[in-house]
Amino acid sequence: MLYDGNRVAKTANGLTTRYLVDERNPSGLPQVVEETVNGVVTRQYTYGLQLISENQLVNNAWTPSFYVQDGSGSVRQLTNSAQAVTDTYDYDAFGNKVNSTGTTANNYLYRGGALRKLLMLCLALLLVGLIAPPCPAEPAPASTAAPSSTTASPTSTQAYSLPPDKLAKAITLSRIDITLDIAGSLWGLAVLWLLLATRWAAALSAWTESLLRRRWMQGLLFFAALIVITTLASLPLDAIGHAVSRHYEISVQNWADWLGEQSKNLGLALLFGAPVLLFFNWIVSVSPRRYWAWIWLASLPLILISVFAAPLIDPLYNKFEPLAKTHPTLVTRLEQVVARTGTKIAPERMFLMKASEKSNGLNAYVTGIGSTKRFVLWDTATDRLPDDEVLFIFGHESGHYVLNHIPKELTGMAAGLFFVLLGCATFAGWLARRFGARWGLDEATPLSSRQGFVVLLFALSLAGVVLQPAANTFSRHFEHEADIYGQEAIHGLVADPQKTAVSAFNHLGEAWLEDPNPSPFVEFWEYSHPSVQTRANFAMHYDPWANGGRGRFFGK
Ligand SMILES: [Zn+2]
Repeated sequence: MLYDGNRVAKTANGLTTRYLVDERNPSGLPQVVEETVNGVVTRQYTYGLQLISENQLVNNAWTPSFYVQDGSGSVRQLTNSAQAVTDTYDYDAFGNKVNSTGTTANNYLYRGGALRKLLMLCLALLLVGLIAPPCPAEPAPASTAAPSSTTASPTSTQAYSLPPDKLAKAITLSRIDITLDIAGSLWGLAVLWLLLATRWAAALSAWTESLLRRRWMQGLLFFAALIVITTLASLPLDAIGHAVSRHYEISVQNWADWLGEQSKNLGLALLFGAPVLLFFNWIVSVSPRRYWAWIWLASLPLILISVFAAPLIDPLYNKFEPLAKTHPTLVTRLEQVVARTGTKIAPERMFLMKASEKSNGLNAYVTGIGSTKRFVLWDTATDRLPDDEVLFIFGHESGHYVLNHIPKELTGMAAGLFFVLLGCATFAGWLARRFGARWGLDEATPLSSRQGFVVLLFALSLAGVVLQPAANTFSRHFEHEADIYGQEAIHGLVADPQKTAVSAFNHLGEAWLEDPNPSPFVEFWEYSHPSVQTRANFAMHYDPWANGGRGRFFGK
């Protein structure tokens, strides 16, 4: 087979059929208009908004046939010039021809069913999410429905609760957030699928070739355009998310500022994402069989660099200043935790982030590795939380630091990525064999082209959605460990570590309007941290020093 972006020739049984491809025609896609065998034109096609007719040599006489298509563009009948039906075609749900009549030679049959199925599925799931009746009086999950937990047994007194008005808001908000999350994931997948099924990805690649001469520049333009398209496609849902957050007074960021942030995201994605995608695409083309292993190897340093560079990019979005500048007494108390934990977090590595301009939420985090590693506290937390609770949060973050959670997560990610890439390469290969002809992919090395790489991106996005609960389970384990560490770290530094932790969790939950009783399934699938309820319940009962015991991380 030969290609110039579109298929131009096919050899079967020693006969070479050449295709004359019309890049611009009323159907909006490149289309085959003429087939030539051994220099003789054997068949011609006429297009309107879709394929109208073929005209082919039958017993040396030009014989026209007219296509009758159904709503999805699949060919159902052929008629002759007297408008009599000569051929009929029936398909099963997967687009395989199950019944046909007539003997007219014809290469155009089924189209678009799989796409329609996917869209119907998306729509159905969306509707299920949207029309599920709101149930503000939802009772707390019965203890029989609660997951068996070694850390927090179901208790009659819940350690985290909200006043009635906030409870109703929190329940509605969590439903909206879950719906938006599901819709966003499905929509992201649908966009990539649509790009392939409509052959826009193939057309985009052809367009870059018509515009630029050098292959790497064509590729760069292709992936830049792909990033812009997918970003614009997800913008409406992101905007709904921001509107919801503003409505519930969690975000206080104005729209101009929000749009500015979206443009920065896009700029960074173009600057770093497009060259990386081009590089990976190149790897596939030079090693079509083992590319997944090479991409895995190449992504390891890239992941390290991105973690290292994250704190250097953050100032593009938020203002940071040394915590000691405005909160010297707090820093002095934090130093006590530092001394107890043995971490070497110097005051210069403690930062205050001006989050209050954008959010009413409370947060703190550790970020970076090596020389960029640091502790960041939102100013909303220092403004609204008692120092004891800031100490507990700092203890939790120190736990991430001391227990090497960032390197451990990176190692886990690297190990997981190996199998994810292997699986995705297999799945993408199958997709290419199944749909490649329809999507305009090369038959011999279908994934090597730019549009072929979109198939791989689709597989990776799908893996991201499917594996979200696995990644979250991993993360919840570390967060729970950090909770234990944090509570032990403030032992002896605050009057009552249990009360302090429970109070901090209540403040946290109230600030983010977190549902006090999320379903175990939602917690399993969506939560990167254990729910505030789980965390508060655990904290309330955790006192390793009672009855002369010792802590898991601290002797005393
Ligand atoms: Zn944490």
